[in-house]
Amino acid sequence: MRVMATIAGVREAVRAARCEGRRVGFVPTMGALHAGHVSLIARSAAECGATVVSIFVNPSQFNQAEDFERYPRTLERDLEACRAAGASIVFAPSNEEMYPRPLSTWIEPGAVAEHLCGRFRPGHFRGVATVVAKLFHAVEADRAYFGEKDAQQLAVIQTMVAELNMAVEIVPVATVREAGGLAMSSRNERLGAEERRAATVLYAGLRAALARLEAGEREARVVREAALETVGREPSVRVEYLEVADAGTMQPVERVSGPVRVLVAAWLGGVRLIDNVGFVPG
Ligand code: AMP
Repeated sequence: MRVMATIAGVREAVRAARCEGRRVGFVPTMGALHAGHVSLIARSAAECGATVVSIFVNPSQFNQAEDFERYPRTLERDLEACRAAGASIVFAPSNEEMYPRPLSTWIEPGAVAEHLCGRFRPGHFRGVATVVAKLFHAVEADRAYFGEKDAQQLAVIQTMVAELNMAVEIVPVATVREAGGLAMSSRNERLGAEERRAATVLYAGLRAALARLEAGEREARVVREAALETVGREPSVRVEYLEVADAGTMQPVERVSGPVRVLVAAWLGGVRLIDNVGFVPG
């Protein structure tokens, strides 16, 4: 496994792999790798002859400087996890390499980024789309793997790739969860033991919503209420939003008539967690 810090270096390594006839898979991450990231890397390694993992804590997608500074950075451990999961190249650029000067060119996602996290984190998806576009240009991959855990991010990237004719196939990967159902997240490390237990109510709420949908309920209001009632059993969990949205456009729906996701964002103390489940009516 090679570790590269420059765009020129990773571009050359990827082009060499392609010249050898290898399919190139790409897994963009912000590091602090856990089993969720590992499942993306392992999936890419199983499907592609070369797998590139990027590790870059992207300042332009944080809307609070403190959140950026407190984001866990565990490079040595991450490199071990990449190696074990089958990565061939790790791209770990500095801020200066990615942003040698303030950007004047941005990718501005439209309606797909308007609701849900987009509403509560202004500028977040603009930062995500822009850095992912920059990474796609540095790492000219055939496929890029993204977690369904960040469903709106996935929809933003799928929309960008389709609308801007980017020559990369986006592969969604199912959410990896802890034993109690809590979606794995780098932010979980900031939860105390009691908060971690309380946080399991989020997935329990999503499952309650899913149960309603599976029983034939199609009114989003009823589905939401079922989830909110379950989540409300933990008073320490402060819900930011809980919505039923179209799986592709991320527009909240009133009635379920096509593929949807039930999405939640909530605060536990100072830690913000997100999760979602998908449903396709029969
Ligand atoms: P991050 O490092 O948080 O930016 O995440 C990098 C990638 O890993 C994104 O595509 C995430 O959606 C994905 N990811 C994060 N957590 C999980 C999880 N629990 N299960 C599956 N994928 C995940």
